[in-house]
Parts: sequence; structure tokens; C-alpha cells
Amino acid sequence: MSMEAPERETDEQPVLQVENLQTAFFTDKEVIRAVDGISFDIREGETVGIVGESGSGKSVTARSIMGLVDTPGRILDGSSIEFKGEQLVGKAERDYRQLRGSGIAMIFQDPLTSLNPVYTVGNQIKEALRLHQGLTGKDATDRAVELLEAVSIPDAQRRVTEYPHQFSGGMRQRAVIAMALACDPELLICDEPTTALDVTIQAQILELLQDLQEERGLSIMFITHDMGVIAEISDRVNVMYAGEMIEKAPVEELFDNPKHPYTQGLLQSIPGRHPGEDRLRTIEGDVPTPNEPAEYCRFAPRCPEAFDACDAVHPVNVSVGEEADDHTAACLLYPDEMSREDAVETHRARDATSQLTDPTEGSE
Ligand code: ADP
Ligand code: MG
Repeated sequence: MSMEAPERETDEQPVLQVENLQTAFFTDKEVIRAVDGISFDIREGETVGIVGESGSGKSVTARSIMGLVDTPGRILDGSSIEFKGEQLVGKAERDYRQLRGSGIAMIFQDPLTSLNPVYTVGNQIKEALRLHQGLTGKDATDRAVELLEAVSIPDAQRRVTEYPHQFSGGMRQRAVIAMALACDPELLICDEPTTALDVTIQAQILELLQDLQEERGLSIMFITHDMGVIAEISDRVNVMYAGEMIEKAPVEELFDNPKHPYTQGLLQSIPGRHPGEDRLRTIEGDVPTPNEPAEYCRFAPRCPEAFDACDAVHPVNVSVGEEADDHTAACLLYPDEMSREDAVETHRARDATSQLTDPTEGSE
């Protein structure tokens, strides 16, 4: 399991490096800053979790990396997404299509968005193999069967000739994973791939992803709203809230020592954490739509620990762990070895230097 993974070298270049990513939707009535200046990276062979409630910007993050942001959305100037050292922001659609087939693959929550109902599962995998590996005919058929076997679909010889509707939900998601593997990606982005499945099937899919990762050295970006799933699969975790990453840590550290009140609230809502209680504790209220510049803490209205400055100062990520940079939180309560005034002042000063220009100004 990922928690026992040995310490990795940190000086090698990450597979994916996201720096100050900002993706906004310019609607008639407002600018929605769906992803508002996030930074994170993914190293070779590791699983990085992105967790947060619905509406926090997880899917827009994934779509930004895949070059699939729909109008009226746009990645703003100053954003950087590097895949193996190559800048993806501003890439032409033609080059992106190439990349989507070979370097990075994505799996969505609903397998039916990736599968075409009028073609057999086999033909869809074969199409991916033709496009990305130039395989056709019997070679492609054999490879399609191998891929179905690789994702543990029983009776693959027969299954390869069947249509998506003949597959159960769990088998369909396996077929989608097989399709993603057809292009031999280095990075697999999974956007809530198990959310629509029952818990038993969910556990099987998570196990499958872990096996595939081990066999193929895949890097995985795993998006979910479920802290239980995060614990199961991630090496490192990024917690998202209203377009921002508000806490980052190695998985064990995050669960043992959560610092941001939002993360603490998410952990409280995991079933089974509070035996004897018949209701889940959840955080009151919803994620706000990030339609104003972040000049305050977007979590403050729901935060049990909020104080006056939280409405006036934008918290930046500061180190909160024993090991520098490994664990950060964007909350005015930290660094907690400082007086509260000094901590607030630290955030105010650091935010001022990072927000010299408003990237949405002058656009559309
Ligand atoms: P999550 O995946 O974490 O549930 P999303 O990334 O889907 O959240 O959405 C983040 C924010 O971006 C939400 O406020 C959502 O309403 C907004 N958003 C997403 N897609 C669009 C769009 N096409 N047009 C306008 N707003 C959008
Ligand atoms: Mg989503």
C-alpha cells in the first residue's frame, strides 16, 4: 500500500509540474475563478490525490492539464503546466491531441462519457491502438484482448466483441482504464473514477489502479471528494477549496496531523471515525463560487476558527510541518509558533508580493 512506499528522491524532475495555474470562466454576469493560482507536482510512479467537496475546482484542474477547458473558460497568463519539462499552456490543439493519446490519459467519473455505445468495446480499444501505436488487424485485436486481461476483465476473448451496455458499471470502468492504457501513458488522471460505483467494486478498481501503477511505473493524479479513498490510494495529497489548494502533505502526515480547519472538517466526516455517532459530521454550508478575487479566506464563512482578519487577509501556503515545505497550509492560524498578529502580517506581506497584477483584468 502507498503509505509504506519508500522515501523518494526529490531532486529529479517531476513528471508534472503545475505552477500558479489560473483557469477562469468569463460568463455574462461574472468571472468564475474556478482554479485560482494553484501549484503542485507529481513525481514518477507516485499517486497524488486532489481532494475537496463538489465545486472546489478539481475537474477544471484536470481539464486544464488535458487542454480541455471549454469556452467561456480560459487558462490565464502567468499559469504554467509542465509535463516532463514541456510547457502545455498555449499548446496548439493538434499537439495536444498527440499528447492526450500518448503522454497523458484521463478517466472520468462516468465511463459512458468515454465509451461510444454503438461500437464494441474491442473496436474502441483497437481505434486507440491504431491512433497511438499504429497497430491494426489481428495485432490490434490480440493487444485489445491483452489489455482487457490486464484490467482483469474475465473472458476477455468474448468480452472484446461486446458493446458497452453489455458490461456492468465496474466492468465498464475497467474497459475505460484498458482504453486509457492502450496509448501507454506516463500520467493517468483519474477524475472520481469510482464515485458512481458501489464500495466493493470501488475497492477493486482502486486495487487495479495500484497494480497497474506498480507494473507500469505510472504516475497518477487521483481526484475524489472522498477522504477514505484518498487514504487508500495517495502518496501525497492536495486539499482544494473554492479554486485554491489550502493544504498539502504526504498522506500519513495529513491524516495524523491535519492543520487547516477545512481538512480537519473533511476528516471528521469520514464514516467510522466517530463510533457511536449515528450521523456523519459534515461541514455546514457549501463551497462558494469563487467569483471575486481571493482577497480574504474563502473558507472563513464556514470556519469554526475564523477571526476578524480572515475576512480581510488572503492566506498563502506556509510551512506547517516538521520538514520544511513538505506540509503546508493556507490559513492565518499558521505559522503557529508566531503570535497571531505576526502570522497575519506574514500572510499579508507574502500575498501582496504574489498578487501584483490581476490576471483577469483587460480580458474579454
Ligand atoms: P469539482 O470538480 O471540484 O466539483 P469543478 O472543477 O467542476 O468542481 O468546478 C469548479 C467551479 O467552476 C464551480 O464553481 C463551477 O460552477 C465552475 N465551472 C465549471 N465549469 C464551468 C463552465 N463551463 N462555465 C462556468 N463555470 C464553470
Ligand atoms: Mg468534478
